[in-house]
Amino acid sequence: MGVEEEAAVLSVLRSGWISQGPKVAEFERQFAAYVGTPHAIALSSCTTALHLAMLLAGIKEGDEVLCPSLSFIATANAIRYVGAAPVFVDIDPGTYNIDPNRVEEAITPRTRAILAVHQVGMPAAMNELGEIADRRGLVLMEDAACASGSKYMAERVGHPHSLLACFSFHPRKVLVTGEGGMITTADEQIAARAKRLRQHAMSVSDLARHSSSKIVSESYDEVGFNFRMTDMQAALGLVQLQRLPGFLERRRARAAKYTAALGQLPFFVPPGEPEGCVSNFQSYMVRMLENAPITRDDLMQALLDRGISTRRGVMPIHRERPYADPCWDARLPETNRAADRTIILPLFDQMTDEDQDYVLDAILGVCRR
Ligand SMILES: *Cc1c(COP(=O)(O)O)cnc(C)c1O
Repeated sequence: MGVEEEAAVLSVLRSGWISQGPKVAEFERQFAAYVGTPHAIALSSCTTALHLAMLLAGIKEGDEVLCPSLSFIATANAIRYVGAAPVFVDIDPGTYNIDPNRVEEAITPRTRAILAVHQVGMPAAMNELGEIADRRGLVLMEDAACASGSKYMAERVGHPHSLLACFSFHPRKVLVTGEGGMITTADEQIAARAKRLRQHAMSVSDLARHSSSKIVSESYDEVGFNFRMTDMQAALGLVQLQRLPGFLERRRARAAKYTAALGQLPFFVPPGEPEGCVSNFQSYMVRMLENAPITRDDLMQALLDRGISTRRGVMPIHRERPYADPCWDARLPETNRAADRTIILPLFDQMTDEDQDYVLDAILGVCRR
């Protein structure tokens, strides 16, 4: 966050309109143009976006939705919010995303949808998933929380590769508004309903009422929510969207440097981009093989002792209490392996060459000992 973001928020504070209003509308327009979709609907978070996505897709009690377990727990929670059940599908160990080859065996008569996740910004295999969804009559949706700026087959994630995609602007992601989310879709009716449902299903928006020269009264035609973004957040988003190309360039350069250095060692597997996929490297997640001279957790501790903070790779949802069921372990071997063997290395916009050299020297030193 820089001086431009500060000025943008200040101007909203002085404008007299701080809740969802003109800045939200402008952020939606510019985000839609950036990803190349006709409609974008700003929301309070990706979690509320995913919850709304389930309702918009007609997912309901008793339905099953296929998704990866190797994801943030919000992916599965959104499915539960509407009374449906997440059915976890194993990942492709190369991309850490849902493996299209394992999808069909998980389909039952109750299956209604596939929720693909672009994990840590790496695009999922949307073409293969789309083919299965079409053939089996399922809805395809995207949890694109981490994927602002990522590309799939020369198009930005959020360009319609499915019915709808849900983004997050939490500080842990690449484009940041504090809290915030977005749904992108090509479907006009879905977009219109999403805009109503985020605002208690109000038939006329408060902005439209306030700007009208005639008396306008609204009605509430279904049960809606307060999933609104504020104009202060949207003002941040508008500045961050301008800066996004720079964020992407720097993140990708840092990722390339990690990959070049760690790829030299026979026990690290750096993240690889499949043909046609461009990651925003929201996180740099690397796999440690069994022949590594140190365990993942010991490496994390040794780095922490040198003042370097790392994280375990993405933790699977099926190990958390609300989703724990003994059936999953046998069905998710690659998910379990990835969870036990991956580490997320420091990668942030203001990281300097010196910072990264310090991290790499520490890793190489610890592994050589
Ligand atoms: C961060 C994240 C979410 C939740 O996003 P919020 O904006 O914090 O609600 C959902 N899914 C995935 C994969 C995420 O990484």
